Amino acid sequence: MSSAESTWFTENFDHSGSSIGFRIKQQLHAEKTPFQTIEIYETTDWGNLMVIDGCMMVTGRDNFLYHEMMSHPALFTHPRAKRVVIIGGGDCGTLREVLKHEEVESAIQVEIDERVTRLAERYFPELCESNNDPRAQLLFVDGIKWMAECEPETLDLIIVDSTDPVGPAEGLFGEAFYVSCMKALRTGGILVQQSESPLIHLTLIKAMRNSMKAAGFHAVRTLPFPQPAYPTGWWSCTMARKNADLSSFRERGAATKQFVTRYYNVDTHRAALALPEFMKEALGD
Ligand code: SAM
Repeated sequence: MSSAESTWFTENFDHSGSSIGFRIKQQLHAEKTPFQTIEIYETTDWGNLMVIDGCMMVTGRDNFLYHEMMSHPALFTHPRAKRVVIIGGGDCGTLREVLKHEEVESAIQVEIDERVTRLAERYFPELCESNNDPRAQLLFVDGIKWMAECEPETLDLIIVDSTDPVGPAEGLFGEAFYVSCMKALRTGGILVQQSESPLIHLTLIKAMRNSMKAAGFHAVRTLPFPQPAYPTGWWSCTMARKNADLSSFRERGAATKQFVTRYYNVDTHRAALALPEFMKEALGD
């Protein structure tokens, strides 16, 4: 449930009895696409805000936390990810981070709703600045179908940057989708997926991890990180790897990276691998 009353946009999370809000100056855009309702607001302090079906997706001020953690830990874990696919991610922020890596030869973004990307180009141009990179390809089709039809053993990294597991994104959290990902990945390939809040979605995180293992993934790890615009302000991504473990990453590569990040570095990567007690206990990590 959400409301844009007076000068605040507030998203209420009934199941956890909490809410998050941003003070807004004005609504810049609202439309209903065949897939969802998209709204764009100008906030007083957080840049522009994109909302899909009442849920906050991106603010100009804090999206770097999410986009960097969805891409760099996986890219610095894989020895050399040449072929990368992003499922969802229509705001293009994850694509921009992926293309900072020279070893990436192609990055395909498979977004179901072209309007998300067109609105991001208009209201979040900084996130779209790598869309014309010759290595980038933007497709507007259902990621579940695309992955089911993907040629086997052709991908090194799959990043699932989706909305919550309802509506068009529901199937992205199920075993059948993970089986398609397993097939599409080369040996040593990695799947990384946004996995909601460790504080209020642990049951979902556990179910995702169990489904990933049931689909045949060898190792699974969940990395928490801060994200003020999402429920509880604390978020996570879950990584799964085909025929290899996730016990280490390329620390030297991360420490000497040749591009600028604002959150990610070798220390924040190490820190994200250290789970708090309640997560260890619940996830058995
Ligand atoms: N960072 C955000 C979060 O965690 O709340 C996600 C942002 S991104 C805008 C999510 C995108 O996933 C949306 O643009 C949505 O259209 C897309 N999406 C949802 N289901 C999809 C599917 N089945 N295939 C491809 N894209 C999908």
